[in-house]
Amino acid sequence: MIVTRFAPSPTGLLHLGSAYSALFAWDQAQRATGRFLLRIEDIDTVRCRPEHETAMREDLAWLGLRWEEPVRRQSEHRADYAAALDRLKAKGVIYPCFCTRADIARLASAPHGTEPIYTGTCRHLSAQDVAHRQEAGQAFALRLDSAKAAALTGPLEWRDLDRGVFKADPASHGDVVLARKDIGTSYHLAVTLDDHLQGVTLVTRGEDLLPATPIHRLLQALLDLNVPDWRHHKIIRDETGERLAKRRESPSISSLRDAGETPDAIRARLGF
Ligand code: GLU
Repeated sequence: MIVTRFAPSPTGLLHLGSAYSALFAWDQAQRATGRFLLRIEDIDTVRCRPEHETAMREDLAWLGLRWEEPVRRQSEHRADYAAALDRLKAKGVIYPCFCTRADIARLASAPHGTEPIYTGTCRHLSAQDVAHRQEAGQAFALRLDSAKAAALTGPLEWRDLDRGVFKADPASHGDVVLARKDIGTSYHLAVTLDDHLQGVTLVTRGEDLLPATPIHRLLQALLDLNVPDWRHHKIIRDETGERLAKRRESPSISSLRDAGETPDAIRARLGF
């Protein structure tokens, strides 16, 4: 059975762009008489707010979406992410990184996708140096040793139902952060583990996240997780080509509702 999910980060109101993503996942489940889940990706406690979550849920329900309860809220599952990091540590594929944002900006090589590639400075620290820094209380992130990890898993593939089969080349993304200094986990780790734990069989999301998928495929192999299919949908833009994402000046679903738009009209406008 097909299981899809919409996994918003409650950092603001639901806008047309995120409503499209929700409807896309919901529609995929509906067509296949499958299951549709909602997951709240609120690991970033500074940017995410409970009131945004409440408002998003109201807007999604108003749009006619129904999801299964209980809703998984990532902030309540930190122990799962810590256990996964322990497993990765036991495999020797993560290392502490003490670099500051300024260090990274200075050292990073040419930008690739959304994140600059980390040059791997801390990958070469001696065990003694790491111990000293940790004893001195220096904050650290945990990074994936992508070359070592890829050597361990061997070649991997993943399937996008629209785009075909891809060879995963996670090493080309460098050593991504799996546990941020401030929150002890990361988008990559939490999203991959949760999709497995929730039995998601079809991951749908915007094509802006396409570069993240090889990293997730590598994590699945390292952690023995189920491998879903993917569909990366188009990004909704306004007439000027500007993205209708939640952080831009784009109409929120609640403002459209207040202006008298109906759920049917919004769904039709988005093609559902
Ligand atoms: N939480 C992510 C976001 O709001 C989506 C994650 C995903 O669908 O993989 O952009």
